[in-house]
Amino acid sequence: MSASRGAGPATVIDGVAAAREVHARLRARVAALAGSNVRPGLAAIMVGDNPASKIYLRNKVRACDETGVRSEVHGLPADAPASAVLATLESLNRDAQVHGILLQLPLPPHLDAERIMQNLAPEKDVDGLTWASLGALVTGRAAYEPCTPAGVIALLERAGVVLDGRDAVVVGRSAIVGKPMALMLMARGATVTICHSRTRDLADHTRRADVLVAAVGRARLITGDMVKPGAAVIDVGINRLPDGKLAGDVDFEAVRKVAGWVTPVPGGVGPMTVAMAIVNTVRAAERSVELRPA
Ligand code: NDP
Repeated sequence: MSASRGAGPATVIDGVAAAREVHARLRARVAALAGSNVRPGLAAIMVGDNPASKIYLRNKVRACDETGVRSEVHGLPADAPASAVLATLESLNRDAQVHGILLQLPLPPHLDAERIMQNLAPEKDVDGLTWASLGALVTGRAAYEPCTPAGVIALLERAGVVLDGRDAVVVGRSAIVGKPMALMLMARGATVTICHSRTRDLADHTRRADVLVAAVGRARLITGDMVKPGAAVIDVGINRLPDGKLAGDVDFEAVRKVAGWVTPVPGGVGPMTVAMAIVNTVRAAERSVELRPA
């Protein structure tokens, strides 16, 4: 299959079905680990009660339940000082039953999330977002790839979209999505352009993309006329509309008429982001067994 193909109607990439498949494969790996008396464990730290974070966390706990991974959530009050967050982090770093740790973002504004995150033990950084993990990603040696871009790659591979030698455009340059996304596409042979708020004539770039990833946070920024016929369009954005509904960064109805593949919001990248956190946790548990003294 080629990266771009005939113009739409696009194949809608089903992130819920893809995540279900990942979960099924994980169940077998979790069962195998039971033979070594290890049950993968994922711990999440949540500070405050941001409603969106609560939903994401609930989805992660549910995915753990589905795969047999043990989960624990450590809630701290919204005014918790950095020392309290760090103390929780340190105790989870030392806990042998915990293989993966997630620091649920965003943290309240008085906390420097980026700094706090660097205290996470590298072997438990299943979000892949510490400087150590991101640095390793640059050199192609990341133990854990960041979950959202990893989910995007998994969706593209499952759909049979070729990346090698194709033109990819990533809109958004954050450290958690856009930048690692660009590195991961490049590692798979794509020629990558990164666009952002200072990009002149965004459409001029996006129209050349065989693979277009939107990670911006602006509802329906990517319109049908910005998409190359037959391209694979992956929508990372999650935006709350005034009527309370969710919308992606892509105008789904217009783009599906032009693209070769498109992901919906919700039901696209979101469930795969969650699944990748569990994949990384199971991998961390497997590594802990491999590293046991004989
Ligand atoms: P950030 O706000 O950190 O980054 C947004 C990026 O978009 C920035 O690089 C910014 O440019 C760029 N940008 C803003 N406006 C424009 C514009 N008009 N044209 C081109 N580029 C623009 O967001 P995140 O990367 O954290 O998240 C992006 C989106 O993805 C959000 O909607 C978020 O909710 C969602 N998300 C979804 C996940 C999932 O599981 N599906 C997981 C994580 C995030 P500049 O750098 O110049 O400011």
